[in-house]
Amino acid sequence: MSEKKKILLLTTGGTIASLQGGEGLEPHRSGVMERELTLLRSYYDIEIQDLMCLDSSNIRPEEWQMIAQTIFRKRVGFDGIVVSHGTDTMAYTASAVTFMLPNIDLPVVFTGSQLPLADVLSDGPDNLRAAFAMAASGCRGVFLAFDRKIMLGCRAVKVRASGFSAFESINARYAATVSNLGLVVDSQRLPQCQGEPELRPDISQNVFLLKLTPGLNPAIFDMLAAMGYKGIVIEAFGLGGVNVLHKGLRGIRRAIEDGISVVVTTQCLYDSSDLGVYQVGNKLLELGVIQGRDMTSEAAMTKLMWAIGQGLNQQQIGELFRKSLAGEITVEP
Ligand code: ASP
Repeated sequence: MSEKKKILLLTTGGTIASLQGGEGLEPHRSGVMERELTLLRSYYDIEIQDLMCLDSSNIRPEEWQMIAQTIFRKRVGFDGIVVSHGTDTMAYTASAVTFMLPNIDLPVVFTGSQLPLADVLSDGPDNLRAAFAMAASGCRGVFLAFDRKIMLGCRAVKVRASGFSAFESINARYAATVSNLGLVVDSQRLPQCQGEPELRPDISQNVFLLKLTPGLNPAIFDMLAAMGYKGIVIEAFGLGGVNVLHKGLRGIRRAIEDGISVVVTTQCLYDSSDLGVYQVGNKLLELGVIQGRDMTSEAAMTKLMWAIGQGLNQQQIGELFRKSLAGEITVEP
């Protein structure tokens, strides 16, 4: 029999490790996952580290850094790493960790569940098994495994509050699926890793995600500048429209002049924004906004936080958003 793959399980809390408490579901340490882990141990050589014990609503950029640092420092000697995490903010964490770990040299797979592992009907066992299989696959990159689908962490979005098919891979095919053939990897969808793995955890918290609404008071941009924000991601309408009448552009122009990097994405979940199509988009391009194209808001937000944290200026950030670092954006050839 072939030697078991060595997998590190980092636990962070979430529903998967929750038990019912007096005020609702509360996350616990990995002990509550023991029944499933006992079974997985017959297939894998597992080491567990309880990193934190949080509902993912309480996970902040500081925790993203701790997760990335732990992965980077502990990865040597392991075939892959599984991170169990609450589903609510898992797409943000998976995106942020993707950018913090350029050229990661092993599979890192985030997973969780909608129903605690302690429940006999939980989706957790399936999700953990898929995550462990991907972690043992030898495919480098940061992934998210859920409901028998494995996607790039930087393409994942939580699309259901309670259904088991809670995550979708937005504008990108799955990296792998689980079927009667086992784990089927789509090698075309794996991130292109060139160069040595690096740990680059510096990140700015001064980035604001703004969902545009009809009639939004443009003074909001002055308020954000006054609060010290260095980056704004605007979820615009459709292909990237904003209100350019009624002084709508004034605030964006001033923000850019103040050195704030403004990225425009779409509030539509699927397809790419393209500011070149409509007059209302072209006016934004003239101001110097950066196009988010087909990135998820989670990826655009964390990429901007990371780019500012790396000390890049507006122009360098614009260039960075034209490149795919880990498959987060579709770059035209
Ligand atoms: N509130 C939970 C969390 O994100 C939800 C879940 O894990 O499914 O931690």
